[in-house]
Amino acid sequence: MIPNSSPWLKQLNRTRPIVPLAEDVAGDVAIVGGGIAGAVTAYFTLRDTQNTVVLIEADRVAHGATGHNAGQVTSYFERPFESIVEEFGLEMAAEGQRSVEGAWGLLDEILAETSLSAPLYRFTGYAGCSSIEQLIEHLEENKDRREGGLNPETILVSNESGWGEEIPLEYKDLYALAPQTDILALLETEDLKYNACIASQKGCMNSATFTEELMGYMVATYPGRFSLYEESPMSRVSLKEDRALLSVGAHTVEAARVVLCTNGFEQFHIENESGSDIDTAFHHLVQGRIGYMAGYLEAMNAAPTALSYFPHGAVKTGDPTGETYFYLTRRPHGDDVGEPKNLVCAGGPEQVLPNQALYSRTEHCREDVRESLDDFLRSTYRHYPDPGTEYAFCWHGLMGYTPGGLRRIGAEPANPVLLYNLGCNGVGILPSIYGGKRIARVLAGETLERSIFDPVDQRCQS
Ligand SMILES: Cc1cc2nc3c(=O)[nH]c(=O)nc-3n(C[C@H](O)[C@H](O)[C@H](O)COP(=O)(O)OP(=O)(O)OC[C@H]3O[C@@H](n4cnc5c(N)ncnc54)[C@H](O)[C@@H]3O)c2cc1C
Repeated sequence: MIPNSSPWLKQLNRTRPIVPLAEDVAGDVAIVGGGIAGAVTAYFTLRDTQNTVVLIEADRVAHGATGHNAGQVTSYFERPFESIVEEFGLEMAAEGQRSVEGAWGLLDEILAETSLSAPLYRFTGYAGCSSIEQLIEHLEENKDRREGGLNPETILVSNESGWGEEIPLEYKDLYALAPQTDILALLETEDLKYNACIASQKGCMNSATFTEELMGYMVATYPGRFSLYEESPMSRVSLKEDRALLSVGAHTVEAARVVLCTNGFEQFHIENESGSDIDTAFHHLVQGRIGYMAGYLEAMNAAPTALSYFPHGAVKTGDPTGETYFYLTRRPHGDDVGEPKNLVCAGGPEQVLPNQALYSRTEHCREDVRESLDDFLRSTYRHYPDPGTEYAFCWHGLMGYTPGGLRRIGAEPANPVLLYNLGCNGVGILPSIYGGKRIARVLAGETLERSIFDPVDQRCQS
């Protein structure tokens, strides 16, 4: 039995005491959820408005998905870009993609302004395709990117694969041919089924230490305007016309606006006293999925990276019933003891959380999943050390999937006292950061252009 042990939580160097809510409090803005979404939403709200902020966390800061992810900083959607274009039109889809890519700049801003010590490694990462169908999906995305005014990504196709002759002419200038050995070298594999790769900007960070340090910064910088309460689960939010009342144990938080940064909608109720029902529709909409990861330490003899592999049949839909695509990240993992090491993490397998089932963070890791991750690394990763590698870490985390696979960011149409920055959808670090900035703009009174992240008006849904 392997306990759920995340390398990101192990690195937390926390010194703040835990302060649970012990009295009724009031503020301009209440934020529920102390993951990266809640922290960044609080940061931009404090920086860009005069509002006071009360942040409520059920557990401890950064112990949700933020402390159990792959820590890969990336800007793709777990949904084909083409389908976003079909739903929203090219202009809005491209603007959505541009917004998430723009979160790199917001992340740099936060790091520069706060001088946090949590490291961010930036580099070009690669994704490998083993079938021409996968390649065409990426070429189509590249075509949409270019037509939408975004920079196309670099795509290399093996000149020995014969795929060059099969690729439709419309994609002709969206890829380059290269020797397969070069493609395999970029993908750090010897697996000959990979005949194409896509290069894009990627990064690695520990979003838990980032979040924890950002909370510490806000506590120190805004003593009169920011209050943080941990081990304080909210069970109900009652929405009036002009304010919200949050039930937290025996106490109440009163605020003019409330922002849910809870990843999903489980374990609390929304009561709209000033309009139509919100609770039922939303609880049925956000679906929980458990993502599994494993990681081992190796000698620090290679640069940080992020690599993804699409074996035969795997697609980028985030569909857990489809063939799994695997990914790995590698970055330094200092613990101040002995030789510096690299941490290699692999992930991919997911499990849908059955309806009404409760996710338990303390559940042990599944041995079959760890074995499948080990199989993947052994068969794919060129630097895989030895059979019988000891995995120092094995962990799982909860992702909240929205029906459209896009994060929800903005005010609730049925009562704008309530706002959201939630819906992990597999890739959530950059979208959470963008979401935090967008929410702060709403709270500052700006009228924003429509976006693919706008909460859907459930009153218009059948
Ligand atoms: C296995 C896995 C791998 C992932 N890999 C990546 C990756 O490589 N790259 C990437 O970009 N994203 C990845 N993600 C997604 C990413 O981790 C999240 O989208 C991101 O951390 C955003 O977190 P959040 O703040 O929205 O949610 P969380 O970190 O889950 O925070 C939500 C917080 O809300 C609190 N909360 C919930 N309900 C209540 C309540 N009623 N009262 C008070 N508090 C409450 C929870 O306790 C929790 O702390 C991965 C996720 C998982 C699980």
